[in-house]
Amino acid sequence: MDVSAPLSLVTDDAFREIFQSMSEGILMVDESGKIVVANPIAEQIFGYEKNELTGVSLENLLPERYRGRHINFRKGFNEHPEPRRMGFGRDLTALRKDGVEFPVEISLSYTKVKGKLLVMSFISDISQRKKAEEALKRSEEQLIVYAAELEKKVQSRTEALHKTIQKLENEITERKRAEEEARGALEKERELNELKTKFVSIASHEFRTPLSAVLSSASLINQYNERGEKDKVDKHVQRIKSSVNHLTSILNDFLSLGKLEEGVIDINKEQLVLKDFIDSINEEMSPLLKQGQRLDIEFAPGTEVYADSRILRNILFNLITNASKYSPEHETILLKFEKQNGELIFSVQDEGIGIPDEDQRHLFERFFRASNSGNIQGTGLGLNIVKRYAELLGGTISFKSSYGKGSTFTVTIPI
Ligand code: ADP
Repeated sequence: MDVSAPLSLVTDDAFREIFQSMSEGILMVDESGKIVVANPIAEQIFGYEKNELTGVSLENLLPERYRGRHINFRKGFNEHPEPRRMGFGRDLTALRKDGVEFPVEISLSYTKVKGKLLVMSFISDISQRKKAEEALKRSEEQLIVYAAELEKKVQSRTEALHKTIQKLENEITERKRAEEEARGALEKERELNELKTKFVSIASHEFRTPLSAVLSSASLINQYNERGEKDKVDKHVQRIKSSVNHLTSILNDFLSLGKLEEGVIDINKEQLVLKDFIDSINEEMSPLLKQGQRLDIEFAPGTEVYADSRILRNILFNLITNASKYSPEHETILLKFEKQNGELIFSVQDEGIGIPDEDQRHLFERFFRASNSGNIQGTGLGLNIVKRYAELLGGTISFKSSYGKGSTFTVTIPI
């Protein structure tokens, strides 16, 4: 085949030079699809020897599956030739002489030589670029995987951190609670010690008077007995009784307070016939009242209550003792009981010395004694105990008092 003839179609020397040295492969194809001329790069891309491509049908450079379609495409181009890129937006595949397929990019142009259409294909082998693109894509994918892994790791570390922080916070809270508990226990112990010290000093002071009264009355009884003075004997027996009562009540208070402080008082509720309960209180308390004093008791007969009789008794014992102690002889103490809306309301009313206004707000404080209590014996514990007993039963205590006229203490307890 005369190879110089087709090449001679490229008339201009400079153009020939460009054609030969272009870095893109160039194929010139005639209207029938035969390659008229190929530049060295085109030969190299497709794996052909020098000039071997001349006369080869263009479709031979395509994988078989595209050939039919390509013939139609070429015809279409021949009818309306215009310079453009081929296969825009999709990958084009070409076939090397050794049968290996490879990706290409192709631009088309055309020219007319001596009235005949010559189509020019500019071909770049983009295998390297594709490989690079794929490598990039792969590393991008790897990067995404790595980022996801990293995110997971960060997430799990964050969770672990949160857990550690939470654990630390819990530990701190627990430690604080333990510290507070310890502080509370210490405070309680300090209070108890203080209380014990005060008990001892009160006991030694409060016990002395009734004990010496007992002693002197006992020796006087001896004398009056020998002389047969019965009235005086009775009087001193009474004195001994009241001193012993006083001692008993102080001891009771100490005992109650001790138990309240330790929180060891159990509540034992039982069904009580109010009348029986009141009778027993009356029987127990009347002999302890001052000369001529008596209990006047109001209640609805037939009433029953569900309550702790031992605690109720302690409350009443204290309030009645006070009413008696802070009233003159021959006074009546009024006791009222009523059941209302599931509550037991009872009051102890006296017409005694009353409580000065300025002292009233301190009345339930431990060891508090009103300024007018003078030399009437007492420890200032009873009302504090009564209040705590009432609260233990879920109830309340209140009072009304006017100085010099008398006082009324009212307890309300749910039953
Ligand atoms: P105590 O009688 O042993 O002193 P309480 O705690 O029972 O202690 O009473 C506290 C104080 O309240 C008494 O010291 C007294 O001043 C005053 N008080 C209590 N009850 C009455 C009452 N019925 N009338 C007048 N004052 C009272």
